[in-house]
Parts: sequence; structure tokens; C-alpha cells
Amino acid sequence: MTGPSSMRVIIAGAGIAGLTAALSLHAAGITDVTVHEAVEEIQPLGVGINLLPHAVRELMELGLGDRLAETGVATADLTFLNPRGQRIWSEPRGRAAGYRWPQYSIHRGRLLLLLLDAVRERLGPGAVVLGSRITALDHDADLLIGADGILSDVRRAMFPGEGGPVPGGDVLWRGTTYGRPFMTGRSMLMIGDRGQKLVIYPIAPPSEDGTQLINWAVQHRTDVRGVPTGDWNQPIGVSKVLPPRAGLALRRARRVRARRGCRAGARISAGGPGSAAVLVEGERDVTRRRGAPDVPDGLQRRHAGGHRRAGAA
Ligand SMILES: Cc1cc2nc3c(=O)[nH]c(=O)nc-3n(C[C@H](O)[C@H](O)[C@H](O)COP(=O)(O)OP(=O)(O)OC[C@H]3O[C@@H](n4cnc5c(N)ncnc54)[C@H](O)[C@@H]3O)c2cc1C
Repeated sequence: MTGPSSMRVIIAGAGIAGLTAALSLHAAGITDVTVHEAVEEIQPLGVGINLLPHAVRELMELGLGDRLAETGVATADLTFLNPRGQRIWSEPRGRAAGYRWPQYSIHRGRLLLLLLDAVRERLGPGAVVLGSRITALDHDADLLIGADGILSDVRRAMFPGEGGPVPGGDVLWRGTTYGRPFMTGRSMLMIGDRGQKLVIYPIAPPSEDGTQLINWAVQHRTDVRGVPTGDWNQPIGVSKVLPPRAGLALRRARRVRARRGCRAGARISAGGPGSAAVLVEGERDVTRRRGAPDVPDGLQRRHAGGHRRAGAA
């Protein structure tokens, strides 16, 4: 080996970390980089993911700023509501908060494909080898980078006695739906508390029909010992997604606001998509009468179909 530019690097995993590492190495003049990905085909899997300004900075320095802006939503603000839908706190995000780089809410799968395209353009079509799982540390390379996710084989090889990840006690059920933009069209909502929380935000610019792709996530504390780690695509009933009192609180909150006509009512209607995971028996009509965005409709349709788009993460 004569210098960094002649180094041979192998990366395990063509996820966001592995592909970004390949682009960063290339930008640093290290071009003999091969990314080995275990799956046979890279698909745009996942739903919403948030890139905070420090991460966006790295991607912009890699020349990906325009592609990110086309693909994601530059998040403008974050609002916390209590389980009754009353506003607790709002704050600006990204550039609106004074950062030099935006925060992007983006579809994880679209981000992945964006990175994959850039890797193939810059490092060549053969830079990503599919169907190639790295399980051992001895390779014909100067450096092996383990970017193979939370159940990393590289890490297991490095620390064989360590054991797997320890569940923290939260389960997140996630999905997407198309709906009309709510609030600024670049707003993120968090509704609930430590025990149960809904997180809702748009992850793509509005389409020609005026709708945009909206991410929703339902998080709650649970006994996760029964959830097999690594199986992120389990069908599940509505009653398991939200504890019963969460749905009750949301239904009650809607009625309270409708009676009082308080200003927060307009905002909680935007919070409907997450609550729509439990939208049953006439909730849709209540929401409609109050002029809410049609996000809940889309969610309700999806859930009526048996949670085909939901998965635990
Ligand atoms: C299918 C999927 C969907 C996701 N959806 C979301 C989402 O909607 N929202 C969100 O916030 N986060 C999501 N995540 C998690 C998020 O992408 C990651 O936590 C984060 O981006 C860190 O990325 P990573 O590249 O380190 O790991 P990952 O994104 O987990 O990527 C790891 C990659 O390594 C590959 N791999 C695993 N073992 C090996 C091996 N031994 N050899 C070679 N390759 C290997 C995997 O197939 C995978 O492509 C998702 C992850 C995955 C894998």
C-alpha cells in the first residue's frame, strides 16, 4: 500500500451508511471501493426518515443537495401536542431555526435509491455487489467497513460474545398515506406522551393532484420480548397498534375541540392520520365535517385492508 488513494476498501451493507461511506471515500480520492450487499435486489423499502442539518451538510458536500430537495421535504417546524390535541410546544427546524443546512423528511427507500444511483454513477456500475453477504473479517482489502445494520455480522465477528441488541421497550408501527398538505405542508407533529405517541410528517413534495406522501408512526411502550428482532413486517390487528386508551383520548379530544371551537382544532385534524390507525365506527365522518385533511381517509382504507403497509421498526 503506497497511500490512501491506492487503498482497497470493502464495505459490508448497501444501506444509507454503506452507500454514503462509499461516496465519501470517493470524494476523498479513494476510488477502489466495493460495497457488498446481502440482498439480491435493492428495493425502496421503508417509510419516513429524518435527516438533520448535520447529516444534510455531509450529503450536500457530496453534491446531492439538489436531488435531496427534489425528493424530500425541507421540514419547517415541529409541534408537540398532548394526548388531548392541545399544543404544548412549537419550534422551527432546519434553516427556519437558523441552520445553514435544511432538515429533510424523506422516504427512506427513495433516499436509498438516490444514494445507490450516485454510487454507481461515480464508482462504476460494478461498485455494488448484490447477493454478497460478508460474514468474516479476513478479506483481500486494506479496510473492511461494517455498515451492515443493527444485526451486524461484521460486529458479531469482531465481538463474538457480545450478544444481540437489547430491546429498549418501544415498538414503532409505521406507514404512509397520501393526503392534502397540513399546516405549512412542511410541518412535523408529535402527539402524545412517553407511553404512546403519534408522529406525523410529509416526506415528499406535493404532487400535481395536490396531495403529498405523509409518514405516520405510532410508538408505544410495550413488552417487546414477544417481538422477534429483525422481522419488521408483521401483520397485526388495530388493537395491538394503539393501546385502547390512545384511541379514546383522540376521539375525546376531537369532541372537546369541536364543542369549544378552539383554534387547536384545526391542528389536531392534521393529527388525524396517526389516529386513523384506530379510526373506526364513524370517526371518518366526524373528521370530514370539521374540514380535516383527507389523510385519515387514506389511512383508514389502508387499515381496512389489514395493515398491508404497516410494519414495526
Ligand atoms: C428495509 C429497511 C427499512 C427501513 N425503514 C426505515 C424507515 O422507514 N424509517 C427509519 O427511520 N429507518 C428505517 N430503517 C433503518 C434505517 O435505514 C437505518 O437505521 C439507518 O439508516 C442506518 O442505516 P444503515 O445503513 O446503518 O443500516 P441499514 O439501513 O439497516 O442497512 C444495512 C444494510 O446491510 C445489509 N446487510 C446486512 N447484513 C449484511 C452482511 N453481512 N453483508 C452485507 N450486507 C449486509 C442489509 O441488507 C442492509 O441493506 C430501515 C432499514 C431497513 C434495512
